Amino acid sequence: MAARARTAGVALRPHAKTHKCPEIGRRQLAAGAAGLTVATLSEAELFAAAGCDNLFIAYPVWAGGGRAARLRKLHEQLRLRVGVDSPEAAELLAAAVRGAPEPLRVLVEVDCGARRSGVPAGAVAGLAATCRRLGLDVRGAFTHPGHAYASPGGVVAAAADEQAALAAAGAALAGLVDGPPELSGGSTPTALSGLAGLAGLAGPATEVRPGTYVFGDRQQLRLAGFPARQVALVVAARVVSTPRAGEAVLDAGSKALSTDRPAWLPGYGWLPAVPPAKVVAITEEHAVVSGLSGVALRVGDLVGVVPNHVCTAVNLGRELVIVDGGTVVDSWPVHTP
Ligand code: PLP
Repeated sequence: MAARARTAGVALRPHAKTHKCPEIGRRQLAAGAAGLTVATLSEAELFAAAGCDNLFIAYPVWAGGGRAARLRKLHEQLRLRVGVDSPEAAELLAAAVRGAPEPLRVLVEVDCGARRSGVPAGAVAGLAATCRRLGLDVRGAFTHPGHAYASPGGVVAAAADEQAALAAAGAALAGLVDGPPELSGGSTPTALSGLAGLAGLAGPATEVRPGTYVFGDRQQLRLAGFPARQVALVVAARVVSTPRAGEAVLDAGSKALSTDRPAWLPGYGWLPAVPPAKVVAITEEHAVVSGLSGVALRVGDLVGVVPNHVCTAVNLGRELVIVDGGTVVDSWPVHTP
């Protein structure tokens, strides 16, 4: 991804919520990332403690109560950027850093069609002006094309929406930011869309924030043509029961794989070692695998399961076991709050 971003002339700021793991964040920075993206104050604190000095909280942070002091500490410690999509949150951000040596850098969130947080492009200039009046340092705008996940056929259109929203936000910010605005796009599927043509990275974006690419997962295989051989993470699961022909039960249910499942993707996981097999049902500690005809899985076997959504699966775990050429070489903690 770093090479793709370099070729496209955009900065890469990987979303570190995918791994919550300083060892991986350091490797992303060493490979050329300009900084890291996080979603929460605690993730920001984790990567700040690990030495990352350039973080973007790409989230409409509500800096009320005890969060104000935490935000200010981060702001004074490193180059921090924060997302904003309302005057109310902007007021709290401004109050949290009042009197600090430098103003807080913010990026206005613009909705590009995901219908989550973010203001319409037509409201970017007004919110940016409010932020400036409050003493915030408006650096640009960001967006997340979450609707790229709605269906495998919709990724290219979502990538176009993302670039269009950033272009509109960039035009709206002319004269309201010092210098050219930072325009930050996001998502693995749009960054990978048009694999050959860099379509997802072409356009006004100055930065991209994909996260899931670092491991890949079952959704990315279908959405973005993520190469199966590059999927870097599996949930290690033990066969605990083989109650019916062609089926096996693993000790990795919803508490390990998570329940994330888009409507267009049947099942909860894929077993690369037994390609036709998939996890067809899960409860908390059980995963039922079917499609095993002709393949014998025995009680006690250890199998790898590619989860549908790797971010939510990693969030349920405590450690990443690092395997190189079939040998366990290390283990890195996952810092979940
Ligand atoms: N930016 C924001 C604001 C996000 O919410 C996310 C993921 O949800 C990302 C970037 C990373 O996108 P992806 O998970 O597709 O890699």
